Formats: sequence, C-alpha cells, structure tokens
Amino acid sequence: SSKYTLSPDSQLLLDNLVETLHTRNAGQPEFLEAVNEVLDTMMPVFAKDSKYIEIFDRIVEPERQIIFRVPWVDDKGISRVNRGFRVQMSSALGPYKGGIRFHPTVNLSVIKFLAFEQVFKNSLTTLMMGAGKGGSDFDPKGKSDGEVMRFCQSFMTELYRYIGPDTDVPAGDINVGAREIGFLFGQYKRLANAFNGVLTGKDLRWGGSMIRPEATGYGCVYFAKNYLNYKKTDFTGKKCIVSGSGNVAQYTVEKLLDFGAVPVTMSDSSGFIYEPTGITREGLAYIMELKNVDRGRLNDYLNFSKSAQFFENQKPWGVPGDYAFPSATQGEIDQADAQNLVANNVKGVFEGANMPSTHGAIEIYKQAGLMFGPGKAANAGGVAVSGLEMAQNSQRQQWPREVVEEKLSSIMKEIFDMSLSAAQKYDMGDDVQIGANIAGFLKVADAMEQQGCV
Ligand code: GLU
Repeated sequence: SSKYTLSPDSQLLLDNLVETLHTRNAGQPEFLEAVNEVLDTMMPVFAKDSKYIEIFDRIVEPERQIIFRVPWVDDKGISRVNRGFRVQMSSALGPYKGGIRFHPTVNLSVIKFLAFEQVFKNSLTTLMMGAGKGGSDFDPKGKSDGEVMRFCQSFMTELYRYIGPDTDVPAGDINVGAREIGFLFGQYKRLANAFNGVLTGKDLRWGGSMIRPEATGYGCVYFAKNYLNYKKTDFTGKKCIVSGSGNVAQYTVEKLLDFGAVPVTMSDSSGFIYEPTGITREGLAYIMELKNVDRGRLNDYLNFSKSAQFFENQKPWGVPGDYAFPSATQGEIDQADAQNLVANNVKGVFEGANMPSTHGAIEIYKQAGLMFGPGKAANAGGVAVSGLEMAQNSQRQQWPREVVEEKLSSIMKEIFDMSLSAAQKYDMGDDVQIGANIAGFLKVADAMEQQGCV
C-alpha cells in the first residue's frame, strides 16, 4: 500500500493511534499482530478519508471485556480454578457473536485477537452480527465427561448474565463442540429460565442448524473454489495439505473429496499423518470416530492405513502439494514454513483457522504470488451458518440441509466477490487479503458513524 500517502494531519492521527495501541496493549502479542495485519492494509482507506483513522482508533478498543473466576470440582473431589473470558468487541452490526475456546494457551491477548478478527469476518458474512469471543485456559485433554460438564456449568453460571439471543450469542471454537455446547446451553436454560437461541452450534434435535458442524470447513473449500475459478483452474487431482484434525479440518477434507481433490495430510498436537495417495472417505470416517468419539491421537490412523506415515511433533508444511489449508490454530505457519510451501511450488493458502499464518509468512506468499485466502474471509462460513441458525431460531423453524448449504455456498461466493472488488476499487489489483479487510472494515465503520460516537 506504499502508493498511498497520508496528509501530515492524517499521518499525525495515525501515529498517535499506533502509539496508544502499543502502550495500551503492551504484552498482548497476538492482539497486536492481528491489528497490525489489518492496519497495514488500511492505507488506501485512510488516504481517502481521515475519519476512518478515528473510527479505527475506536474499533480496536473492545466495547466490554469480562474476566471471571471459574471454580469447579474434579473427579477426585479437589477444587480447581480456571480463568474465563468474554470480550464483547463490536455491536455495530448486531448482537456480539463469536465462539468460545477452551485451551491452555487462552489468555486476554488471544481472546482479543480472535474477537478483533471476528469484527471483519462477521461483517463479510452479509448477515447482521456484531463480534465477540470468549474462552478459558481450561484444558479438556484427559478430563472426564463429568469434569467437562461441571466446568461448563460453572463457566456459564458467570457468563449467562452477559449474554442473550439479542445481546451476545456465543458458539464453539477449539475444544468446544457439540458436547460442550450442550452442557453450556443446559446451564444457561436453568439460570435464565428461557429456552432460546443464545448459543449456536446446538444439536439438531433442539434448535441447531443443518450444516453448522460442516460449515467452516465446507465454506473454506467453497471460498478456495471461487478463487481457483477466478484463476481459471480447479481442484481435480490437486494435492491438498491440510493441518488440524478437529471440526474444521475434518469437513475441509470431506469437501475437498467432493470436489475431486486429494487431501494428503492431517495433524494434531502430536504430529501429522501423510497419506501420499490421499485420505479416502473411509480414512476420514476412521479419523472422525477417533477424534470425535474416542478423543485419541492421530498416530492411531496407522492402524487403519498401511500406506500412511506419521511424523511425530512435526508440521505438514514440508510435504509436496498444490494448496495448503491450515486448519489448526494461530501462528502455525511461520516464515520458514511459508518458504517451504513456496519451495514446494504450492500455489495457494486458504485459512480454515484464525490467523494461522504469521505476518511474515503472509509477506512471503505475496512476494511469491500465491493465492491467499485470509481466515476472516475464507473461514467465515462457520459464523455465517451460525447467523442462519439464529434466523431459524427466531422463526422457530429448521431449514432443510440443501437450503442451508445453498445459502452457505452463495455467501462464500459473495465474500470472495466483495473482497476482490474492494481490492480493485482501491487499486490494489486482485489482492483478496487487502480487499477482505477493506470491505469488512467499511461496513462496520459506516455503521459506527451512523450510530454516533458510541
Ligand atoms: N469459532 C468460529 C469462528 O472462529 C465460529 C463462531 C460462531 O459461530 O459464532 O468464526
């Protein structure tokens, strides 16, 4: 964006913004990285009208941040305590909306970066959703169902007073799936004495939406398909390097198979599996059972496949392939990994996870001319179908599978088209990352301006 220069007054505004940002958020590297990634792409907008610098200054400060104690009793009768978070980032476009993550790495910086990403992502979905994120440093690994239930109940006992179907609508994220949403919903219902759409990702039998579990992974592959289409190519026979083995990775692999691609890897915190001829539907079913029911480790996949290899404690980015789908967690592709991808002639990176590529990695993709689908555009399908779940709950209806998938696929096309045309409008070629940030920002920024200085 160096072709845009700011007036001296605007530059001063921006310098002050950056200084305050860093002082106020010292010691929050994930949050600062997420903000700086967006800030770097905003010069075309700031150069056009300095009011957007003032709005950006407001957008980076959460509307409300809640931090709370989560006490619970483990199976041995010992009392334990974790820290809970809910960051209500923006209500410009609707009720706060975003997932809950349970992971030992969760802290205020991580939740704030995720809530910040959610602002732009939710804006891009075309639906009426504000942005938030929550979570806890609770580690569900090795915990019994009873322990997870008691933890979820305690977490909701504090959270419930801050949320509601028109206030803040949480959902799942890493380690928060169908089981946890059930426990959280049950406790909310008792405390609020209300059965409503306060959480998304609910079971199909009590208010959930068709395609919600599939939505993030499917959506990411739909997004990539639109990109490939624009580049006049397709998925047929293309080797895809997928990381992760949770909900996002699983349904990414499933949709890649639908489109005739060849997914060759999946990973978890213990390492990655490499299946040179491609993970089959049967292989995927085995992994889904292993992960979702047995909650086991990926190396167990070697009991299913004779041709697969397991690489302990390694990331899959050195494997040859055409496209990469990072679908595990933030920062999983650093500069060295990005250089590996480029050296292996990978042609595109589509982010199923939130901020899986570091800032430095993104620079390397751009220099090498890779297609790049940033998380806030490429993985927006999950929260988009959450928005559709909210709509169904308000109508007390459940739409058929085909209806939801059709809406998901057209939303993903719209996100790609909007990102591309924003990039073109601001003279940034076909840089979809810049376009996604600009399109996502402008809608929220204009809403904030219209609603006054609030
Ligand atoms: N946790 C997902 C995300 O990162 C989904 C959030 C939601 O459905 O509210 O977008």
